[in-house]
Amino acid sequence: MDFSTKTVLVTGSTTGIGLGIVNKFASLGANVILNSFDNNPDNHELASQIAEKYCTNAIFKKADLIYPDEARKLVTDTPDIDILVNNAGIQYVSPIEDFPSEKWNDIIAVNLSSAFHTIAEALPIMKRKGWGRIINISSVHGLRASPYKSAYISAKHGIIGLTKTVALETAEMPITCNAICPGYVLTPLVESQIPDQMKVHNKDREAIIRDVMLARQPSKEFVSEEQIADATVFLCSESADQITGTTLSLDGGWTSM
Ligand code: NAD
Repeated sequence: MDFSTKTVLVTGSTTGIGLGIVNKFASLGANVILNSFDNNPDNHELASQIAEKYCTNAIFKKADLIYPDEARKLVTDTPDIDILVNNAGIQYVSPIEDFPSEKWNDIIAVNLSSAFHTIAEALPIMKRKGWGRIINISSVHGLRASPYKSAYISAKHGIIGLTKTVALETAEMPITCNAICPGYVLTPLVESQIPDQMKVHNKDREAIIRDVMLARQPSKEFVSEEQIADATVFLCSESADQITGTTLSLDGGWTSM
């Protein structure tokens, strides 16, 4: 696949998994659009650095995906979109009885509804261009539950339902829609939690990773951002033309249990 002719929009892509996906597509020559919820100059600088490093086009577009209008405008402002990666996500942990309604609404808005809005605007463009790829970053928590994450788990299960529906509605076109379900990925956010966990549990780094963080990940290894990026690129390649409406788990065996 020649990605140098493709335009890739990745939501929530100034950090973590989204940034890994942007870097991968940029390294393959694609035009990339980064997104986050604020117009911090650092976000624009990050896009400039990526453009310079990979000699490609990279720009940053602000859109707060809590708001449907901003999610839709992000796509309508990108009329040449070929590949849409719905990656933005937030988390909140609490028993259901204490789970604040605002947190529930925000998580459903960012982790699920924003993908509905971006897909709704991207499909007419992809149909006009005669090709399109949609990748939704779900989670192992789209397939398995854990306590105290009701909104996150509902949204991540929901986005798999959305993925299947979009796949059926586009099945006879050269457009595919799939979901990636990572287990624990060692993003900067996860890395930053390790020192605190070491203090709380009075264990060394290795023990925290193995016994606490990866307690349910049978491989006892983190998934890497690069592996998620490679899986995303694979789902956009010719080899994956007949893969649509499915989930690709990178979870070290978690969903085998
Ligand atoms: P992260 O916090 O580094 O990235 C989340 C991104 O979403 C950030 O760039 C943030 O700016 C953006 N974002 C948050 N709220 C937004 C909003 N209102 N509007 C626009 N952008 C917004 O986290 P990550 O670990 O890289 O997670 C990326 C995706 O992968 C998420 O959907 C997450 O649920 C999923 N995921 C992560 C893991 C993991 O272990 N890290 C595992 C499974 C799934």
